[in-house]
Amino acid sequence: MQTKFIFITGGVMSGLGKGVISSSIAKLLQLTDQKVSCVKIDPYLNYDAGTMNPIAHGEVFVTEDGGECDMDIGNYERFLNQDIPKSHNITTAQIYSRVIEAERKGEYLGACVQIIPHITDEIKNRIRNIAQDENLDILLVECGGTVGDIESLPFLEALRQIRAEDGQENVIFIHVTLVPSLDVVGEQKTKPTQHSVQELRRIGIQPDLLAVRCVQPLLEKTKKKISMFTNVSIKDVFSCHDVKSIFMVPQILYDQGLVDTVFKKFAKVGLINASANWDKWNSIVDSLQKPADIVKIAMVGKYVTLADSYVSVNQALKHAAASISKNVSIDLIDSDTLNGDSKKLAEYDGILVPGGFGIRGSEGIIKTANFAREKNIPYLGICFGFQLAVIAFGRHVSGLNNANSAEIDPKTENPVIDLLPEQKSVSNMGGSLRLGANEIKIKDNSLAFKIYNSSIINKRHRHRYEFNKKYLDTYIEKGMVFSGESDNGKRMEILEIPSHKFFLGVQYHPEFNSRPGFPEESFKAFVSAASS
Ligand code: GLN
Repeated sequence: MQTKFIFITGGVMSGLGKGVISSSIAKLLQLTDQKVSCVKIDPYLNYDAGTMNPIAHGEVFVTEDGGECDMDIGNYERFLNQDIPKSHNITTAQIYSRVIEAERKGEYLGACVQIIPHITDEIKNRIRNIAQDENLDILLVECGGTVGDIESLPFLEALRQIRAEDGQENVIFIHVTLVPSLDVVGEQKTKPTQHSVQELRRIGIQPDLLAVRCVQPLLEKTKKKISMFTNVSIKDVFSCHDVKSIFMVPQILYDQGLVDTVFKKFAKVGLINASANWDKWNSIVDSLQKPADIVKIAMVGKYVTLADSYVSVNQALKHAAASISKNVSIDLIDSDTLNGDSKKLAEYDGILVPGGFGIRGSEGIIKTANFAREKNIPYLGICFGFQLAVIAFGRHVSGLNNANSAEIDPKTENPVIDLLPEQKSVSNMGGSLRLGANEIKIKDNSLAFKIYNSSIINKRHRHRYEFNKKYLDTYIEKGMVFSGESDNGKRMEILEIPSHKFFLGVQYHPEFNSRPGFPEESFKAFVSAASS
C-alpha cells in the first residue's frame, strides 16, 4: 500500500497555530477511518527539545518511548488519541549526526557528502520508513519554522523531492499563512500571504491548499484575491478563523469541504460513512465547552511567562473538569513571587505544582506545598511538585532541619530528594534523565488505588532526582504514605497524606496521558476533590 503524504509548511510568521491545524486535518482524516499519523520536523540545531527552556519554546512533551519532544507531538496525541513515538520528531541535529556518523564509517564509499542528496536522502528515508513501518494510509508532516528560514531549506527540499518522486496524486502541500485585519473596518489584507507563497514557489513548491489564519472568517473576495496571486483555486483556500476551542478547528475545516478536497486530490474513492466517529468526537468537543460551575485552580510554577510552558497540564485539567461537567479556571502563579506568604492561595479550590528544574522559585513552591497541607486545600504535585512536597513535609512535620533536594542545595544536611544512583556518572545533560514510561506498583487500600482502580499503572517520567529512601521510616512515622513504587521498591513514585482532604504527589507526569474525553485519573480525582 502506498502511503499518501500531506506536507504542511508555515508562512508569514511563527505562532500561527500550524500544530493545531495539522492536528485538526489529521483528526478529520482519522474520523473518516483513515489510518493516520503526524510527524513534526524541527529545523533547529538541538538534538531534541530536552535541553530547551520551556519559557522560550513551550513545554517539553515526553513520549511513551522516552522522547523529549516538541509540544506539537502532545497536540497530535491529544487530537488523535494515539501514542506518537519519538521518531516522529525530526530535528536537524538528528539528521546531520546520522550522516556524519555514516561518513566516518565510510558508508558513502568515497563520495563527496552533500546536503543534496545525502542530507535530503536521510530526511526522506526517515519519513518513508515511518509511513511504511506503521502501515499508514496518510502521514502528515509538519515542517516547523517559516518559509524563508535558512534552517528549514534542506527539509523543504526533501519534501519537494518526495512530491516529484511520488507524484501529485500521492502528495499534497498545505501552506499555513496569515491574513491580518488592520483598520477598524477590519479589511482583510492578503499581501503577507502573497509574499509567503512566492517564497515557497521560489524553492520549487506550489501549495495545493492554503490554510489561512484570520480573526473573522475569510471573505469570498479575500479568497478570490489570494487565489489569483497564489495560483491556488478559490475552493482550496480555507479559512482558519478564531474559534472558542482548538478542538473546534476540525469542524470548521470539514464544513468548508476539506475532506472532500483532500480525497479528490488523492483520487481516493469509496468514503466510509464515519458519522459514528463524528458523533463521539463532537460530544467530547461539546463537553469541553460546557459553561458550568467553575473550579478555581492555582498552578504555582516557575515558567509562568509563557502559557505554553505547561500546555499538557492545562489541557489535562480541562479534560478532568469536563468529565465531571465543570469548568476550570487556572491561574498561573509565579513561585518566585510567593516567597513572603502564601495567603493569596487561600482563595483557590485546589493547588497544583507542575514539573520544574533548578533553584529559582523553589522556596516559594515549598511554602505552597506546606500551605496546601496546613490549610487542607487539595494538592496535586507533579514531579518537582512531588519532590518539593517531600521537602516541605520533612521540614515542617518530620523535623528534618533544612531538608532539601540535592538539586537545589547539593550540601544540604538532609538530602530527602537525591540524585538517582544511576545518574551519578552522567555528565551529558541532553537525553540523560530517567525518561519515558515505566511500570508502577500501587498499594492496596490507598488513595492511589482508589484513583486508578488498579495495582499496576504505566506512566511517563522525566527526572534526575528522587525520594531518598534513607528517610522512608521518618516520613511514614509522621503520616506520609508512599503508595506507589517502581523497580521492585527501589523508587518511590506516589505520596499521599491520608488525614488530608486530598494530598497527592506523583514522581511521574500524568499530564502526558490525558486526552479529551479520557482524562488522566489523578487529574480527575484532584479536580473532583477541589470541586467538592
Ligand atoms: N528537577 C527534578 C528532577 O530532575 C524534577 C524534574 C521535573 O519536574 N520534570 O528530578
